[in-house]
Parts: sequence; C-alpha cells; structure tokens
Amino acid sequence: MKYKAIIGLEVHVELKTNSKMFCSCSADYFGQEPNTHTCPVCLGLPGALPVPNKKAIEWCVKIGMALNCDTPLFSKFDRKNYFYPDLAKGYQISQYDKPFCINGHMTLSNGKKIGIRRVHMEEDTGKLIHETVDGIKVTLIDFNRSGVPLVEIVTEPDFETAEEVKEYLQKLQQIVRYLGVSNADMEKGNMRLEPNISLRKEGQDGLPNYKVEVKNINSFSFVGKAIDYEIKRHEEILESGKTPTQETRGFVEKNSSTVSQRIKEEASDYRYFPEPDIPPIRWADREISKLKSQIPELPDEKLKRFIKDYAVTEYDASILTKAIEMADYFEEAVKIGKSNNLNAKQIANFIINRKQDINNILPAKLIENILEATKTEKVSETELEKIANEVLSKNPQAILDYKNGKENAIMFLIGQVMRQIGKKIDAEQIKAVLTAKLK
Ligand code: ZN
Ligand code: MN
Repeated sequence: MKYKAIIGLEVHVELKTNSKMFCSCSADYFGQEPNTHTCPVCLGLPGALPVPNKKAIEWCVKIGMALNCDTPLFSKFDRKNYFYPDLAKGYQISQYDKPFCINGHMTLSNGKKIGIRRVHMEEDTGKLIHETVDGIKVTLIDFNRSGVPLVEIVTEPDFETAEEVKEYLQKLQQIVRYLGVSNADMEKGNMRLEPNISLRKEGQDGLPNYKVEVKNINSFSFVGKAIDYEIKRHEEILESGKTPTQETRGFVEKNSSTVSQRIKEEASDYRYFPEPDIPPIRWADREISKLKSQIPELPDEKLKRFIKDYAVTEYDASILTKAIEMADYFEEAVKIGKSNNLNAKQIANFIINRKQDINNILPAKLIENILEATKTEKVSETELEKIANEVLSKNPQAILDYKNGKENAIMFLIGQVMRQIGKKIDAEQIKAVLTAKLK
C-alpha cells in the first residue's frame, strides 16, 4: 500500500456508581421514566453547586492505573464550553490540562504498545429523542443521563489497522469489567467510541496535516467499518492530489459509510477554564498507593498464570479469563476438584467443551457432574480376559493391522470389548489386557 493509516481513539466509558458525578441523583437511568433522575445540579439550574463523586474519581484513577498511567498528585476540573441542547449548563465539567492519569500504555497481542495519552473524568450529557408528537416533528430531552460519571480514555495515534483498534477495545472492555467500575455494555451506550483517522505516504515522517474524527460509535464492528471506510475515502482524495478536510463525521449504519457533520473544533473553541466551583484535587501518596493496592489481577497476568499453574492451552486460558466471574469460578472448581482427583485440565475441558452455564451450576455441582460423566464401572479380571479373547478371535484383520504398526487398530479392538461388556469401563484397563495378549 502507498499509504499508511494513523489512527487514534477516544473512548467514553460510563461508570456504574450509584449516584451521578456532581449530585446525589441515581446514576442508574437506563429504561427509567424520562426526567425522573434529575435535580437542580444536573438540570443546570442557576446557583446549583456541583459536589464531586469521590468513588467515581477513584474509579477513574483505577482505570488509569490498569492502563499503566502515571497519576499526578495534582489535578483539577475545567469547564468545556459549547452550546448544545443536551448540555443543560452550556458547558460540561471535564478536565483540560491536569487530567487524573497520563502517559499509559496497553500492549496488544502482537507485542505492539499503544500509548495512552490521558484518562480523565467528566460528566455525561442528556439524551435527545427525535419524535413526532401530534403530527409535529419535535425533539424531546431526557436529562436522566445528564451528569452520569464518564471517563474518557485517549490514546496516542498508534494504531495502523481496524484490527488493532478492535483488539484494544476488547481488552479495554475486559479491563473495566475486571475492575468492576463499568458494565461496558455497548448496547446500553456504556462505552462510546470515536476513532480519528488520517493517512500518510509510506516512508514519510511526522503526522499528516489533517485528521478526521468519527463520532459516537457504539459497536466494535462499526468502528472497524468506519475506519476501513475512511481509509479508502482518504486514499481516493489523496490520489486525486487533494487533502481530506479536517472534520467530524458520523457513521451511517445502513451502508457502513460516514457523512460529514461539522468542521472539527479546536481546543480553543471550547474556551476551557478552571471550574471555579470545585477546588483542585491534591492526592497524598498513601491515597494513590491505597488505590493501586486495590487493582485486581488483570486479564493479561491472569492469562499467563492460568497457562503456567493449570497447564491449560493459551486458547483455553483466554476463554477462562475473558470474564473475571468465569476465572473465579474455574479456580474455585479446581480447588474442589483437587480433593476428588480431578485435574485443572479436565475441569477446563468440561467447562469449555460442554459449555457449562456457570451462573446456574455451583462449582461443587460441576465437579459432581464431571465425576458422574467420567465414572467407569468395574469389571472382573476374568470376565475382561474372556471377552478380550472372544474379540481377538473374531477380528484377525485388526490383529494383523496392529502387528503391522497400525496403532489405531487397538482403538477399534478396545471399542469392540467395550461394546460386548456393555458397561462403561476404563479404556486404559482394556488396552493393557489387549496389548499384553498381542505381544
Ligand atoms: Zn441531579
Ligand atoms: Mn469527552
């Protein structure tokens, strides 16, 4: 390819705190009657004062820590001014030059490090609903979402393909779920994605002189489609000797394309200034260490440990560690299995191959089920000898095959013995008897 894509990503993650970011309204707004989770603060009424949600701030810092960020001891909130009907105050309380977390990274499976520029705290906006009421097209506003804690995670422009972006997103979703700070449910809009894309000529240094951002995408696959569409579009424009316009575009689901929405704002358009109603935040070292100590074992480490400790394949380990609930369940089952002479690999196989519903089967019950499924019945030596002789006399061809080195001939003979016995007995026991006779 003549061009190389340069892709960065902004992700907004809604936290699942009980209350909103700057007021005591419930943040659990999904599916609720419109405008029932509101108060003067999140409606932006004059004179109402914001009080920051401590838990939300701590969770924001934890996300940053899990993404290997530095956490400066000084931080503050700023006002980001813009006019849009879903923004009650006319500004969003966000963070400008002193975010909670900076300079992190995430390592992809190909070993590539994606830089995390910043992780900051802000508030969500209300929701606009376009409807027809009494035959008139109107826009309704639901402020239940207004002020819900939102963490914004901004990467460096380190991605080159849609595949890298999708892997990053899956890992990010996994991490925030491990931390227990967000459901990261795409369908409910808990995670919203904004890739920015530009192309540069192969061999050329530095960043291109333009950048196109695609706004508010709510599925990993749509992000991939939007990126691929943009790469192709930019290629065509560059090939014709022009430069793509720096702008914000929207993704159109029905034909996987994008359309221009507005010419991209500069930071100066937002007239950022420090939020006068919230004092700056100064962390003590011990507070930061305390938060760090609360970070659980994260997916990458867990995956490595599972492969090492439980001798499972990387593929199996990735299934077992995808969700922390599954990982915990598996480890609990391993503990119980140990006293029943079941090893971790047997348990892993059973969970994965038989698609066990871990929400409805307790680990102890799972172990019982495995024991039941693998239970073998006893058969007397003499009976086994007798049947083995019968089978051998009826299958001279299989004996010949075996003696000519066809290893699987013995499997056939074992099967015949089992069928004749009509019980589920240990295949190894039958094999031992047969091979002894075939010597
Ligand atoms: Zn409120
Ligand atoms: Mn934002």
